[in-house]
Amino acid sequence: MSSIDLSKARILVTNDDGVGAPGLAVLERIARSLSDDVWVVAPEVEQSGASHSLTMHRPLRLKELGERRYMVDGTPTDCVLLALNHLLADHRPDLVLSGVNHGSNMGEDVTYSGTIAAAMEATLLGVRAIAMSQRMERDMPVRWDTAERFGPEVVRRAVSMEWPRHVLVNVNYPDRPPESVTGMQVVRHGNRKIGDELVRRIDPRGRPYFWVGPVRGEKDVPEDTDIHVVTHGGISVTPIYLDLTHYACLEELKGAFA
Ligand code: MN
Repeated sequence: MSSIDLSKARILVTNDDGVGAPGLAVLERIARSLSDDVWVVAPEVEQSGASHSLTMHRPLRLKELGERRYMVDGTPTDCVLLALNHLLADHRPDLVLSGVNHGSNMGEDVTYSGTIAAAMEATLLGVRAIAMSQRMERDMPVRWDTAERFGPEVVRRAVSMEWPRHVLVNVNYPDRPPESVTGMQVVRHGNRKIGDELVRRIDPRGRPYFWVGPVRGEKDVPEDTDIHVVTHGGISVTPIYLDLTHYACLEELKGAFA
């Protein structure tokens, strides 16, 4: 896929936080600063953690909210699929932007994130995609101005080169005001498994229930990872590859099955 002339580009904007989310408005402004041909197709309700799920057992509704603005009563993947294969099928977007997510998507978040899944779906359908997430602290205002300030430049740089097939770009903005961001760094994704900290409680009827706990494990993180860059005030840019085969293991496994 060749580099994109953004001034002539058709851009599709989506997210996983839902059509009313503040981060979607931020991403729309980023997209509109780059092109006049911006379309929004986003989920009706929040889909965070939806991953790459696809709605298969009930119908989907595409509702027009305004000019070039739609919502779908489904997942981020449903939104991209309906946009690319129906709504914009005759003139597909040149670029899909997903986000800006409320909270970072780093390390293994890649496998849970609806924000990144929307970018995955676009990538699988042959359209280049960039996922964007804004790190934030609990009970603190989200620094959307940081994503908004750097977003256009991130997109311009990312699409100025060709990308291999089956690659998407994942971007995380630090929880800092724009003026104290330390720079942009291209890094691999790190590791900080979440969800193993379960909180067990008892409901009013005496039955146990569980909460999946918060993110942990951000200490002693290697420097060349998204987690390190973003927790130290930088913007991380990570190419994600959708060929999930581990080729070294493939050969070894062949031996085990010989
Ligand atoms: Mn989300």
